[in-house]
Amino acid sequence: MGIPLIQMYRVGSYLAARKLRGEKHIPLVLMLEPLFQCNLACAGCGKIDYPKEILQKRMSVKDALNAVDECGAPCVSIPGGEPLIHSEMPEIVAGIVARKKFVYLCTNAILLAKHIDEYQPSPYLTFSIHLDGNRQRHDESVCQEGVYDKAVAAIRLARGKGFRVTINCTLFVGVDPKEVADFFDEAMTLGIEGITVSPGFSYQHAPRQDVFMGRSASKKLFRDVFALRRTGSPRSRWAFNQSSLFLDFLAGNQSYQCTPWSTPTYNVFGWQRPCYLLSDQGYAPTYRSLIDDTDWAAYGVGRNARCNNCMAHCGFEGTAVDDAFRHPLKALKVSLFGPRTSGPMAPELPLVESDVRPPSAVVIPVTQMTRARRKTESRRQAVGPG
Ligand code: SF4
Ligand code: SF4
Repeated sequence: MGIPLIQMYRVGSYLAARKLRGEKHIPLVLMLEPLFQCNLACAGCGKIDYPKEILQKRMSVKDALNAVDECGAPCVSIPGGEPLIHSEMPEIVAGIVARKKFVYLCTNAILLAKHIDEYQPSPYLTFSIHLDGNRQRHDESVCQEGVYDKAVAAIRLARGKGFRVTINCTLFVGVDPKEVADFFDEAMTLGIEGITVSPGFSYQHAPRQDVFMGRSASKKLFRDVFALRRTGSPRSRWAFNQSSLFLDFLAGNQSYQCTPWSTPTYNVFGWQRPCYLLSDQGYAPTYRSLIDDTDWAAYGVGRNARCNNCMAHCGFEGTAVDDAFRHPLKALKVSLFGPRTSGPMAPELPLVESDVRPPSAVVIPVTQMTRARRKTESRRQAVGPG
């Protein structure tokens, strides 16, 4: 596991206390999006296709910390956009650390060398660096040459200064299992604490729709990758910043349903219903309203066509953690021996018929994974998301 024991203990105690109180919708990770603006334009990004006036919006320190207090989750992930563009990010992070919450500051690392001294190393602060693969793969994924080298240099810099560092890796269609395994080997040599990995979610607003894998392709890929992790080899040193049962789910061994309330999202529009990924289902004015007034039964695999392709950690990590809490021996076994990589897969939940083109229908070579020209008519309008 790529998560320190103290953090696992704190999150476990928090979960136990909330369960003892009989709570049904328990938040584990707050997704705090203080801005949507970014200094990259990646092929699979569903966050940056807003008009200029929305990209220029910034969440205030006060609103960010109020959201942290309102939600109460023990972990806070700060994606974006690119958080390091936000001039008050050091204050936001310091406020969260002062509350003894575990912060994951998700960054493409381009600005990290410039801003790193605005942050203090802490057991509560982790830089989660966006890295989708080896040099060629990552630079193609972010549609800009040289970003991989900057990210690797930033990882070395942050580790040298004593910061906790993980990488955040999204896998897209056409990726080769051995290449992924080699990349994980390489990433571990950088001294990172762990890898967060997910198949890309097929954002409706992403500039390229043909880069996303379907669920079957994702599960097969993860099985093939995990099969390359052999005991006694350097690959046995892979550490993941995710629960063992979430990895088991990625490998097709668990029929989990999404629990989006476990990862609530607060951004410049308010509390986003129902999750971090769907941005056109409306916003709640308060965290309490998000939990009480959202029709949770309308979302998840087999309930909503937009969820058909989703295996993202923001939907299913909470489910896996809950399962581990109920079945610790099962979780321990997967943790010790890794996810099963052969034999039948767990039954798939029935999918909802979708008018959206199946994401796995088109396979493109990675060399063509460049950002398509944006069409003005397809961009979101200035009035808000959706
Ligand atoms: S995926 Fe991340 S780094 Fe890439 S454009 Fe989107 S917010 Fe920026
Ligand atoms: S499955 Fe869950 S996390 Fe994924 S898009 Fe649907 S509601 Fe969001």
